[in-house]
Amino acid sequence: MEADVTTTEQVDIAVIGGGLGGAAAAALLIQAGFSVDIFEQAPNFVRLGAGIHIGPNVMKVFRELGMEDRLASIGAHPDFWFSRDGRTGEYLSRIELGDFAKREYGAPYITIHRGDLHAEQIAALPPKRLHFDHRLIDLQEREDDVLLSFANGKTVAAKLVIGADGIGSMIREKLLGAEKPRFSGWVGHRALVDMDKLRATGLDYELCVKWWWEHSRHIMAYATKTNGSEYYYVTGVPVDGWEHESSFVDSSREEMEAIFGDNAHPIVRGLIDSTTEVTKWPFWNRDPLSIWSHGRLCLLGDACHPMRPHMAQGACMAIEDAAVLTRSLTLSGMDNYKAAFEIYEKARHERATKVQTISNANTWLKHHEDPAWVYAYDPMTVQIA
Ligand code: FAD
Repeated sequence: MEADVTTTEQVDIAVIGGGLGGAAAAALLIQAGFSVDIFEQAPNFVRLGAGIHIGPNVMKVFRELGMEDRLASIGAHPDFWFSRDGRTGEYLSRIELGDFAKREYGAPYITIHRGDLHAEQIAALPPKRLHFDHRLIDLQEREDDVLLSFANGKTVAAKLVIGADGIGSMIREKLLGAEKPRFSGWVGHRALVDMDKLRATGLDYELCVKWWWEHSRHIMAYATKTNGSEYYYVTGVPVDGWEHESSFVDSSREEMEAIFGDNAHPIVRGLIDSTTEVTKWPFWNRDPLSIWSHGRLCLLGDACHPMRPHMAQGACMAIEDAAVLTRSLTLSGMDNYKAAFEIYEKARHERATKVQTISNANTWLKHHEDPAWVYAYDPMTVQIA
């Protein structure tokens, strides 16, 4: 059925999905002078209980957006990423961050509540350009534009469409056909712990530490606020399957105890004992995609390279994509979008695939290694053409 042209809004660039990658893409493109509208399925965003690492590679993007200092004032600043044995506490690696990261990689390394990060990103966007409650349900590629149809009945004609719509991306489906993401065989438990109980242990809760057990099971624990008032952990645990329909389910302190409690190091024990609410999330995956764009459609972030989160770089890759895509479009111009998408994919494919592979393997920083190739990268200046 043809859309009614009198009610179909015309836009230049439509970003589908206002997650961490989509919000970054929209902000960067607007700053570069493009006309951008963001269409997000959610009616609003809520502060889900979860943290996130933002590496120096991506703090440089936030610097470009004038948000670096603000984020640095909210998030925590670990001096090290430690890896430790979950039972003995033995240090497996000490990766220097803090001032070293500022000096060597060109920006701070922060850990932050992802709701706080996202809220800052959303607040930086022009409210009139951010359209909540717009779930894309269909699209039709036409000669001069793409017709987007939303679940709320609205239609929009866009010159270019950026699919920042996450692992279940509809834009990816249009490019490559319907295919559900694959369950990776791993789940993660996420918890913000009770700070009073944690403090009562009198133990030293390092700002960023990954505790390891056999078969790569782990707990990644870190602070999410500058003032140390919030501490968070996310686990990685292999399981037989995921039978739930929902995106996450409730877990419990007892489940943490059963998985990690056996002879746990006292600090881990304190973490388990301080757990009040904990949820369990499946980790989904896809193989690297054969194409990232076609015609006027282009993908970024989890829509084109989802990964298990063990390298703490999934969102960072989405935001790096956003920066390089913006630079590519600036270089080529809107009309020459095909060239821009080619430059973008060429500049990003190898790096994103490498990070995806290492993140899935869950080996990152377990033992001493030089992380400079990830953290020193500058998406704002790296040569792209
Ligand atoms: P998403 O964040 O998934 O955003 C997609 C958006 O699109 C959503 O808002 C969604 O509502 C919207 N959308 C979807 N479909 C439609 C539609 N049809 N119409 C309109 N809107 C739509 N990364 C890091 O860099 N550091 C970390 O420390 C880190 N830790 C993690 C821990 C865990 C447990 C997990 C699961 C992930 C972690 N990641 C981390 C990865 C990171 O969360 C993702 O890589 C990142 O969120 C991807 O961003 P995105 O914008 O591509 O997709």
